[in-house]
Amino acid sequence: MSEIKKLYIDNEWVTSKSQRFEEVTDPSTNEVLATVPLCTKEEMDLAVERAKAAFPSWKNTPAPKRAAVMFKLQNILLREQVELAKIISLEHGKVLDDAKGAVRRAIDMVEFACGIPSLIKGETVPNVSNDVDCATWRAPLGVCAAVTPFNFPIMVPMWFAPIAIACGNTFILKASEKTPLTAFKLAECFEEAGLPKGVFNVLVGDKECVDVLLEHPDVKAISFVGSTPVGKAIYKNASANGKRVQSLTGAKNHLVVMPDADIDKTVEALVGSVYGSAGERCMAISVCVMVGKIADVLIPKLIEKSKQLKVGKGIDPGAQMGPLVTKDHMAKVLSYIDQGVKEGADMLLDGREIKVEDYPNGNWVGPTIFDHVKTDMTIYKEEIFGPVLSIVRAESLTEAIEIIDGHPAGNGTSIFTDSGLAARTFREQVNVGMIGVNVPIPVPMAFFPFTGWKDSFFGTLRAHGPDGVNFYTDQKVVTTKWLGANKESLLNMSI
Ligand code: NAD
Repeated sequence: MSEIKKLYIDNEWVTSKSQRFEEVTDPSTNEVLATVPLCTKEEMDLAVERAKAAFPSWKNTPAPKRAAVMFKLQNILLREQVELAKIISLEHGKVLDDAKGAVRRAIDMVEFACGIPSLIKGETVPNVSNDVDCATWRAPLGVCAAVTPFNFPIMVPMWFAPIAIACGNTFILKASEKTPLTAFKLAECFEEAGLPKGVFNVLVGDKECVDVLLEHPDVKAISFVGSTPVGKAIYKNASANGKRVQSLTGAKNHLVVMPDADIDKTVEALVGSVYGSAGERCMAISVCVMVGKIADVLIPKLIEKSKQLKVGKGIDPGAQMGPLVTKDHMAKVLSYIDQGVKEGADMLLDGREIKVEDYPNGNWVGPTIFDHVKTDMTIYKEEIFGPVLSIVRAESLTEAIEIIDGHPAGNGTSIFTDSGLAARTFREQVNVGMIGVNVPIPVPMAFFPFTGWKDSFFGTLRAHGPDGVNFYTDQKVVTTKWLGANKESLLNMSI
């Protein structure tokens, strides 16, 4: 058996007593990189207990000192960014540049959290009545937890951990069992930054240990990112147990191409957003709605560019698209492609038979394009999470918007056009939370919230930005009457 990883609880590397394990594999070879224990209920209980014990002292650590830890963490992550990107590329499969971009996004979150003394300021109204002042104070919640997906092993955990911790909470990261090695490296970085024992903990596990978090009375908030069915169930269970929950779930993102769009820029944007990270991105474009006759010019160029993509092991120089994360996931994506053919979509590019030199055992699926996809087809309705594009034809912007609004997911969408009027109409009418105008993947920066709509989000307060601070703090409104204020005698007092 390969090296068995330990759990990170209370700043200690703990050998798990679990009898259940998952293998973390290199998706380009399926060689086993490490074995991770799926933690036991008792181990998750222990993490909660230690995080709870760490809370009073961390909460009372002055905000500028908590910010100082974030500044230190930022420096460490900058130093370690290439190493972290290599781990991500190795365990997830995405190409190194993609991985570096994700590390950069994680550092953005830390930089946002560095501003915590300003971010948690309250508001004051003096003299709401005679000698009475009223003010709001923000207080951290206690133990907070995040359950995160395989596809962004650093960026997604860091949507939550830096803000939660900077606000004065303690934190448990339940990392994905498919890509946990990045999270373990992250634990080393947090510890080096000077986080006291128990403030940041990393465990790996499945439903059994996630349920402990959802039910434990000492866990105050749950942040989930993953598939819609799991996210819905987690939202329901954790809410029923009185916790704050933000649940960011699956997607089907449409890119609308208007007849006046710049063809070359649109093709370039499509190739990057459909095949980046092999389509394993919640903001990947998986549907292109082509309005009018632009399809006739755009499609041949798109096929040409897609064919030129160099598919290979993510860490190898020159690779532009990596493998899918596991053999199971590859099988799922391939079965969707088979289903598309069966249901009568026109296959323009078939990624099923791709061979990658030197890596015969990798989880390879090449760029795949279907045209004339109908909205009742399985490949349109369901999230494939692979390098597969569905082209849907529309006669007008109104029809394009109706198509998008008819899909239950509402994470991101984009329009490519030269027309300000089309862009503005789209922005105002489409019912999706993150919108790009000539931007294919409109992921908000750290200081804005991540605003999925419809079945792509369950909860109220979003991840990061000001919403992140509000999610990880509660408010007190304090009304003070200054009794015995004999102002005259005080002002005339001689000292
Ligand atoms: P997943 O739902 O299988 O797993 C996500 C996390 O939940 C993992 O940590 C996993 O161990 C845990 N989990 C799985 N089943 C569980 C259960 N029954 N009970 C409790 N916990 C469980 O998702 P994934 O395959 O890791 O990630 C891909 C999905 O994540 C896609 O649907 C993608 O769109 C979504 N995603 C969404 C966003 C977003 O911001 N909306 C971002 C990234 C990924």
